[in-house]
Amino acid sequence: MKELIMIRYGELSTKGKNKRNFVSTLARNIREALSAYPDITLDQQHDFMFLTLNGAPQDEVLEGLSKVFGIQSFSPAIELERDFDLLKEAAVKLVTAELAKRPVATFKVATSRSDHHFAMDTNDINQGLGGFLAEEFPELAVQMKKPDLTVRVKVREQNFLISSEWINGAGGLPVGTSANAVLMLSGGIDSPVAGYLAMKRGIRITAVHFASPPYTSPQALEKAKSLTEKLTKFGGLINFVEVPFTETQEAIKEHVNPAYLMTITRRMMMRISDELRKQYNGLAIVNGESIGQVASQTLESMFAINEVTSTPIIRPVVAMDKLEIIDISKKIDTFDLSIQPFEDCCTVFAPPSPKTRPKMSEIEYFESRLDIDGLVQRAVEGAMKEQIMPGSRNKTEEAFLDLL
Ligand code: ATP
Ligand code: MG
Repeated sequence: MKELIMIRYGELSTKGKNKRNFVSTLARNIREALSAYPDITLDQQHDFMFLTLNGAPQDEVLEGLSKVFGIQSFSPAIELERDFDLLKEAAVKLVTAELAKRPVATFKVATSRSDHHFAMDTNDINQGLGGFLAEEFPELAVQMKKPDLTVRVKVREQNFLISSEWINGAGGLPVGTSANAVLMLSGGIDSPVAGYLAMKRGIRITAVHFASPPYTSPQALEKAKSLTEKLTKFGGLINFVEVPFTETQEAIKEHVNPAYLMTITRRMMMRISDELRKQYNGLAIVNGESIGQVASQTLESMFAINEVTSTPIIRPVVAMDKLEIIDISKKIDTFDLSIQPFEDCCTVFAPPSPKTRPKMSEIEYFESRLDIDGLVQRAVEGAMKEQIMPGSRNKTEEAFLDLL
């Protein structure tokens, strides 16, 4: 008998000839998301993937799997020889485990066959095993319609497979099956949620963070990296790029009327992000803008900021209320980090009353006083990349939380 986890694919089962690519991308993401357990093995088959624990803790692995995009559902399962007595033994083990976890009053056995050369057919197995379990567990009643527990048996060419639990996966598409994009990641609540939602559609993100030391603290930078690590759980490795933004912010502060400081700062961020997008082979920029949330996020403002590029800007939270965004940030475990009070580059230089309806003529006037190309180029050249993997920052994060 061998304990496995059976993984069912989501939307990707409809993708025809791209399927092999989808499945291998998903397998890679699962390995990266579970990189803390290097002994697990994955066997990719046509409609399922089988994960063998090889000693890895089942609960942690199930928890890790529940976050990986592209998985529709998964079940702990037992693989065994095609022997009815062994099947009964395995079924007792599974049912006992289920009863320990939750209240169960009714059950049924559901058998399917991918091979028809076994002496018993599906009815024989359903009735034989169902009758046996009803005797073993007198507290359980057989019920065909919506039972609390379904014991699923698969008769396969080489073996039987039996499972009972059915755990919903994260859905979506495996990260890496859509093109790449750059995520503008601040330390706030919105941009990590935006990143999560983009990843859900298979986009592999590069996280770009603007830092303005000494105006912004090392803790603010650490926070952005820790947020990035939270996002790696959904699809594996993420490149984190720290952009030196001090020179740009000082130049803006010196040459731009405070009312336009916010708009022009955002335009500079957008220009630099777009250059980094090219460098990292991205086709879009993702950010956490939401209409009307703050002064820089009126449609007038977004129009003025967007005007520096024709690259698609993806704003996954654009039409959500703050409370909806917060709900997601709690679900993905970024909320507690996001609300840590570290000033980011924008708050430090924030003017008391930014323009909510910036005028293009004014923007052009102030920008003519800046060396736009030089500032962009130096920021891009000074950008520093770090690869972040799930679990890779646990220690740093603990040290960081100690500082609080
Ligand atoms: P968030 O909660 O994501 O910080 P916000 O509500 O604070 O968003 P803004 O400050 O207007 O909104 O920022 C809008 C978007 O600009 C952010 O969602 C993020 O995508 C990007 N951004 C802001 N500051 C930074 C930064 N320091 N580095 C990278 N991107 C940033
Ligand atoms: Mg912010």
